[in-house]
Amino acid sequence: MHIDSLKKSNRTNELIEIIFTMKNTIIIIIFIAFFAVNCIHAVAKKQNINSTIETNTKNNFSENLNHVAQDLIPPLIVTIDYRAEPEAQKWAELAAVTAKEQYPFLVAMLDSEGYKPPRSLRIIFIDIPLGAFVNREIIYIPTEWVKNGKLYDIEMYGMGLVIHEMVHIIQAYEEDKYRWIKEGIADYFQFFWYARNGDKTCIVNPEKAIYTDGYRTTAAFFDWIVRTKDAGFIKRLNAACRNGTYSIDLFKNYYSMTVDELWDEFIQTLKKN
Ligand SMILES: [Zn+2]
Repeated sequence: MHIDSLKKSNRTNELIEIIFTMKNTIIIIIFIAFFAVNCIHAVAKKQNINSTIETNTKNNFSENLNHVAQDLIPPLIVTIDYRAEPEAQKWAELAAVTAKEQYPFLVAMLDSEGYKPPRSLRIIFIDIPLGAFVNREIIYIPTEWVKNGKLYDIEMYGMGLVIHEMVHIIQAYEEDKYRWIKEGIADYFQFFWYARNGDKTCIVNPEKAIYTDGYRTTAAFFDWIVRTKDAGFIKRLNAACRNGTYSIDLFKNYYSMTVDELWDEFIQTLKKN
């Protein structure tokens, strides 16, 4: 009896030991499964957030220049990253489509000898108290502009913002001394070419404005030069700024008027209207 009792006790101990071992194994299996599910979820989430949209752009412009541009300029790859502001998803996806559609045309309009346009760009939402800006091939957009609704002000920003910032990427000026020109050209494409609402949004005050104000004032001035003096003005001006040959003499050389004389003429037309 004593031996049997001892054997029984040993078996019980073994059973308890097995259960304890299995318990640990089960815990480990649950832990691994939990970890694996989390990993898969994280990868899927990342893929979703950083959805790289490969281009297979269809030409939306029936106009001549752009289909030439489409043929010559490789499709743009646009990556969007709205992790900092998930509510911007729809806006960011539309921005990617818009960027791809408009890019060949902008590159063609701002072409110059030997210029090689970037093949890809990124649009990233960032939590900083600044305006939108560009660094190399990345467009940074403040999350604040989603929260305060600025991005959805179609007339002033909307997709026009993408055009403006994309122009800066294409300009690729090495020097920052052409700032008024840089911003004037970007706003020209944003308001007069893309949004086509420059007559409403780029109102110039003849008493206070000056062409070096940049942005909408300069854009309105440039638009007037394009319409009344030279349809190729923007391309010429951009090329000079990009290759570093720009000087204020450009205006005198091509239009036999100084930039101040051109501005005065522009202002006179505003006063007449
Ligand atoms: Zn700008």
